[in-house]
Amino acid sequence: MLAAEEAGRAAPAEPAGPWQPLANRVRSMGTSGVRAMTAAKVLVLGGNFAGLTAALNVKRLLGEDADVTVVSKSGQFQFNPSFIWIPFAKRAASEVAFPVARTFESHGVRFVHGEATRIDAATQRVETMEGTFGYDFLVIATGYVNDYGVIPGLGPDGNAYSITSLDGAVAAAVGWAAFLNDPGPVVVGATQGAACFGAAYEFVFNVTYHLRKHRIRVPVTYVSPEPFPGHFGIGGMPGGQSMLGMFFRNQHINPVFGAGMREIVPGEIRLSDGSTLPFRYAMVVPPFSGAEVVRTSGLGNPKGFIDVLDTYQTLEYPNVYAVGIAAAVSAPWVTSNAVGVPKTGFPAETMARVAAANIASQVRGEMPAKEENFGDIPAVCIMDAGNNGVMMLADRMLPPRKRALMIPGPQSHLAKVAFEKYFLWKTRHGYAALP
Ligand SMILES: Cc1cc2nc3c(=O)[nH]c(=O)nc-3n(C[C@H](O)[C@H](O)[C@H](O)COP(=O)(O)OP(=O)(O)OC[C@H]3O[C@@H](n4cnc5c(N)ncnc54)[C@H](O)[C@@H]3O)c2cc1C
Repeated sequence: MLAAEEAGRAAPAEPAGPWQPLANRVRSMGTSGVRAMTAAKVLVLGGNFAGLTAALNVKRLLGEDADVTVVSKSGQFQFNPSFIWIPFAKRAASEVAFPVARTFESHGVRFVHGEATRIDAATQRVETMEGTFGYDFLVIATGYVNDYGVIPGLGPDGNAYSITSLDGAVAAAVGWAAFLNDPGPVVVGATQGAACFGAAYEFVFNVTYHLRKHRIRVPVTYVSPEPFPGHFGIGGMPGGQSMLGMFFRNQHINPVFGAGMREIVPGEIRLSDGSTLPFRYAMVVPPFSGAEVVRTSGLGNPKGFIDVLDTYQTLEYPNVYAVGIAAAVSAPWVTSNAVGVPKTGFPAETMARVAAANIASQVRGEMPAKEENFGDIPAVCIMDAGNNGVMMLADRMLPPRKRALMIPGPQSHLAKVAFEKYFLWKTRHGYAALP
């Protein structure tokens, strides 16, 4: 039985049209003469940055006119930007994640902890581990999975740590504690096809900061497919290459750019050009791919990301949206080793707000008019470097840009800590209207 049917509502007899007015769904309330509207069923898959923002904003905009359900594989909200601090015991896993059900429920959004296993957009049904759900509007915000298969030797059973999952960051912390008793060369980097370069830069600068604190002098190498320092997967920023170069020189980090990796064996990263990087401790960021359910449902590209319009509607189904990392973005450059585009928190939230506004329009019988191309979303990022950092602001995520600014200094580290506190507070309380 469909969850909608369980809840006593009729499952849609036929697919809701893209801009079907809510008035069309008006139904009679027996002999009272009162006519009440059937709330539009909005189903959101994923409850992190993009899913949480989309669900709470749909509810905020539509109130009783929307019956919003979030189905998420994780029962927690996880603040991934703080994963970089876990290995150095600056944060515990419990400080960067919280159970998210209460946040949703306190705003009238139903939360189901379960994994979606199949999306049937033609019949407007989603199968999950917790039953099948019908919907009028679907928001896919299922984010990323780590593609450890990119080279042999990566992943939880591999030979290097990856902090791109909470478990991975916790494992990297155990490894770092052991490393401090038996130090040696450190290698930090990203494989070809990776996109989350900010985390790799932050990690290597946190490594050198903590090595200095522990008075340990060992060789540190940063290895990346990026064509130059400070590319970040966003094509670089004015002055960024020289600023990052200066950071590398000051912190005695050996830079290896434009590199592809062949494999990681115990104690050694083997590069595509035949050279090797020995290590005692290594952290490598893998590429991301889309959620399994996107692939198995035939909705995504070969990497499992979903092509979208600037309204964040999918190309084929006007009542199905994809936001956050789940949405496909193409890199406007060609490099010898693939360099992905990072879909960071700010654009993930922006896409979700656009989708929520458009769903609200559709429910009201209007055209979904809000548009925001990914490349046009402003870049707002802070790169942490232990007790230092760089604030990066630009009018557009991707070049060409009219305005871009990089502000180095210890205030950037403090700003990142303050932002973490603010964001977790805002999210825990579900204050979806706040920036
Ligand atoms: C180490 C690291 C550091 C980062 N640092 C920064 C930073 O400093 N600044 C910044 O802006 N961004 C940063 N990011 C990026 C930021 O984390 C992402 O932009 C953000 O996580 C994207 O949110 P999302 O909701 O699209 O995807 P995700 O965060 O991946 O969330 C997806 C959600 O969907 C759920 N899900 C997956 N599959 C299913 C399924 N089949 N059914 C139901 N639910 C499912 C997952 O459990 C999860 O809750 C960082 C990322 C990492 C990994």
